[in-house]
Order: sequence, then C-alpha cells, then structure tokens
Amino acid sequence: MRSITRFDIQYAHRFYKFQGEAQYLHGHTGVLTLEVEDTIEPGVNMVYPCNEIQKVAWNVLKNFDHALILREDDPLLPAILDVYEKQGIRNGAPSNKMKGEAFRTELATAYPDARLVVTKESMTVEGMIKIVYELLKDKLNIARITFTSGVNAATQEYTPTRTVDRCPLCGVELVNGVCPKCGYRKH
Ligand SMILES: [Zn+2]
Ligand SMILES: [Zn+2]
Repeated sequence: MRSITRFDIQYAHRFYKFQGEAQYLHGHTGVLTLEVEDTIEPGVNMVYPCNEIQKVAWNVLKNFDHALILREDDPLLPAILDVYEKQGIRNGAPSNKMKGEAFRTELATAYPDARLVVTKESMTVEGMIKIVYELLKDKLNIARITFTSGVNAATQEYTPTRTVDRCPLCGVELVNGVCPKCGYRKH
C-alpha cells in the first residue's frame, strides 16, 4: 500500500535559452506529490505516517520554496547574486528563517542563505522529479513522484528497494533497531 503526501512549493525560475515565454523569469505554485510504498506496519496500521514524510521531505524541499531556481550557466545567476550581495542578503537575512538543509547532488545545489537552487539542467517538472528523487531516495521508500506546475505535469514510478523496519508504536523508521521518536527497541 502507499502513503501519499502533498507539498505546495512557491518558486521562480526560467528556462534559459528555451524558445518560448518560459525563457523569461516567472513564478509558480508547484505541487509535489510523494507516494511512499511498503507493507502496512501492523502496530500503527499505516505504511508510514504522513506527517513524518512531511518532516523528512520538507527539510530538503524547503530549499525550493520562496526560492529562485536557475541553471548553472544562466547569466542571471551572477547578476542576481551581485544584487543580493550589494543589498546584504546574499549570505542570509534575519527574516530568512524558513531555511532548508543545504545540499549538493549531481543535479542541484542549494544555497539556503540566498534562497537559491542552482541546477545542472533546466528545472522543468521532469527536472524537478529527478532532483527530488535523488534527494529523498535514501530517506523514504519512494514509489512515485508527481510534480505539477501551471499547466505542466509529470510523474515517475519507482520500484522501492529498501527494507524498512518501522516502530510499531509510531510507525517511523528504526535507526539501528531503535525508534528515534519514542525509544522503542526491537529485540
Ligand atoms: Zn515555469
Ligand atoms: Zn516509536
């Protein structure tokens, strides 16, 4: 069975050199849907608690929210960093609190202090799915990722390969046989 969680992500981007309106800077509310698959953990009668999927995923997804997402070769990148630098917000600001955990993968690098994600490829809905899978595949048993943004949508199925031992009391993944939430021990 699957536990399904949804995220709203507000972001700005453009497709550098794309022959269409999307080569101009613009914004979206993107909707990301994560489907986590497993057996039902009998103790809690759940695959995985959705609020826990929220916590794990949002910790990295926060990087895309109220953020600017640009391709690494986009000349807007140095121009914007220059403005942020002069304004004194490039390395953070007191009001910039909802920051995600910085990350760097093959496909994307997050700079939470500047609310910026630099990508290798254009951040299309397909591109976002590839980035998110890379970020979360070792943290959750992902069976499907769907991303919609304006009239664009894409979805990808995955075959979950991890075996996840979950706490019969809270449903979260055990770390070395111990529940990080309630301290339950598997003997
Ligand atoms: Zn767009
Ligand atoms: Zn527990």
